[in-house]
Amino acid sequence: MFTHYDLHTHSRQSDGTLTPTALVERAAAAGVEVLALTDHDTLSGIDEARSAARAAGIRLIPGVEISVTWNRQTIHVVALNVDPAAPELRAGLERLQEFRVWRAEEIGRQLAKAGIEGATEGARRHAQGVLISRTHFARYLVEIGRAKDLRAVFKKFLIRNKPGHVSGQWAGLEEAVGWIRAAGGQAVIAHPARYRLTGSKLRRLIAEFRDCGGEGLEVVSGSHSQQDMHNMASLARQCGLLASRGSDYHGPENAWIELGRLPALPADLTPVWQAWPQHAA
Ligand code: AMP
Ligand code: MN
Ligand code: MN
Ligand code: MN
Repeated sequence: MFTHYDLHTHSRQSDGTLTPTALVERAAAAGVEVLALTDHDTLSGIDEARSAARAAGIRLIPGVEISVTWNRQTIHVVALNVDPAAPELRAGLERLQEFRVWRAEEIGRQLAKAGIEGATEGARRHAQGVLISRTHFARYLVEIGRAKDLRAVFKKFLIRNKPGHVSGQWAGLEEAVGWIRAAGGQAVIAHPARYRLTGSKLRRLIAEFRDCGGEGLEVVSGSHSQQDMHNMASLARQCGLLASRGSDYHGPENAWIELGRLPALPADLTPVWQAWPQHAA
């Protein structure tokens, strides 16, 4: 039976800084036994991560973190144990990737109006030919000295009401959960304490999520404070959701928490991995 699960991580295939192989090796060295690779809106790192996990002697859970627009807000839904070949999921993610390409051009046009030239080019260079994210713009703006760190770039340029902000439509909640279920996976609301939703809004989100077949809540997240974790644990209990645990690791430079250091799930909660065959193996 495994004890050390980390079910939310990123590689260079989206906005992490490590290759899938380096991520898996680092996780294994840190004592992680079951690792989910959950890059934003892409499954392109799964094959490499799977081979690396086999070599390192740990379990790899194929996953993806899907960008969702709910109630005019961006919400992230982590998909676990999906079949990476599932056509509906693949088609859905392709649409989100196309939106990202368009959005990157648009962010560049907006930033140019604010006097920052060449941002799309710079971001593309940081993205290294794979999926492009606001994080890549942030890395470029730090590089050219427009802000001191990623957090400062987001605050100054990339969030709502700032010059480089571009709003748009990601997947619908029901749509994303549908793709995940059609791919045989489980849907989990990522880092629920980070959306700054009021208690009642968060309950509404969870109710709608459950109605369309969502199962889990990320109770333990690298980005949650201890208080957040307690609040989310109560919510999981009250709403009868399975509990998940993930670092949301993006690489050693900017980690909320290093791999292998996540606190355990509160013991009375039912973990999302409870029914997984390998749990009993
Ligand atoms: P995108 O999905 O391209 O809109 O980019 C969202 C990503 O940006 C998230 O997954 C985080 O990794 C990163 N991010 C969002 N807000 C911040 C912030 N305030 N500081 C640093 N990184 C952030
Ligand atoms: Mn990210
Ligand atoms: Mn996220
Ligand atoms: Mn994430």
